[in-house]
Amino acid sequence: MGSDEKLLDCLIVGGGPAGLTAALYLARLRRNFVLIDSGAQRAAWIPKSHNIPVFASGISGPDLLARQRDTLAQYGVAPTIGTVSGLRRQPDRFVAVTEGEGGSRQISARYVLLATGGVDIEPDLPDLPNAIQRGLVRYCPICDGYESRDRRIAVIGYGDRGLGEAIFIARTYSRDVTLLTLGQPLEKPLRRQGELDALGVKVVEAPVERLDLEGDRIAALHAGGKELHFDVLYSALGLKYRSDLALSLDAEHDPSGGLIVDGHCQTSVKGLYAAGDIVRGLDQIVVAMGHAAMAAIHIHNRCELPTEDEPDGA
Ligand SMILES: Cc1cc2nc3c(=O)[nH]c(=O)nc-3n(C[C@H](O)[C@H](O)[C@H](O)COP(=O)(O)OP(=O)(O)OC[C@H]3O[C@@H](n4cnc5c(N)ncnc54)[C@H](O)[C@@H]3O)c2cc1C
Repeated sequence: MGSDEKLLDCLIVGGGPAGLTAALYLARLRRNFVLIDSGAQRAAWIPKSHNIPVFASGISGPDLLARQRDTLAQYGVAPTIGTVSGLRRQPDRFVAVTEGEGGSRQISARYVLLATGGVDIEPDLPDLPNAIQRGLVRYCPICDGYESRDRRIAVIGYGDRGLGEAIFIARTYSRDVTLLTLGQPLEKPLRRQGELDALGVKVVEAPVERLDLEGDRIAALHAGGKELHFDVLYSALGLKYRSDLALSLDAEHDPSGGLIVDGHCQTSVKGLYAAGDIVRGLDQIVVAMGHAAMAAIHIHNRCELPTEDEPDGA
């Protein structure tokens, strides 16, 4: 295995909106760092986002990522293509194992920022793999519910998460909302029955037997002997977090693997930071960028402390 001799100030893992923002901050703070990215950003699936404040006509995920990489190039920084497959902590540094074109390498850094994101849990619809990635089912009403206002909306989900999202959409965007549980029975009596009734949310617990596709949209769903028509479908099944590296160091996390961080986006492992979707909370681009800025500044300020205090100290 190859080994990089020099000790970096920081290793950034992940080149989505969070990791690329952290890289911009660290470049401008004149830090010595490397960004490793395996190139599977959730952001790349965004057809067009309208809730990133500076793009009045919206921007696609690939365009946003390309602009972030172009900005970094002005500082002579480019992501290294590869995957960080292991992370160890030593008293004064982290040692990462990376897999890339040239085989395995070891990288040592005083700090590590994880910006590895997550993967959408796809709904189990008949003969329709990757429905979210293909844009047939949407995942985030906060992102694009506004564009679906007053339309016929279905929410795929169960348990409290499914109920919560159906109620959120009915309260905010449309009075024609149906919760599809894909054959999973809801616990009775329903916890939020009063709100569902008040907002007119319908619930279909029958499994979906068949779908009719028409071009790039789902024209009809067949469930419980009925043909159902919606303008928009949302999945409320959540994310599988790519937090394995942090979990291998016993970082504190919630039951689904979302990392718990402090006000500087530092995990419970000193010197290990996290930004973006991997952090428990709101999965949004501006939030991911905010995490990254806070983490990068804290890392920079701690680099000025005596080496013996890092990363174990304070
Ligand atoms: C269809 C869709 C539409 C969306 N629309 C919007 C919207 O309109 N507005 C909005 O704010 N948000 C939207 N989002 C959410 C948004 O995409 C995420 O919040 C955002 O991408 C999070 O950025 P991130 O940097 O944390 O993660 P990601 O974008 O997922 O990037 C993580 C990167 O880390 C890399 N990585 C993972 N593990 C490793 C490893 N071990 N080694 C090296 N690299 C690794 C991955 O390959 C990936 O490149 C949408 C998401 C989807 C799926």
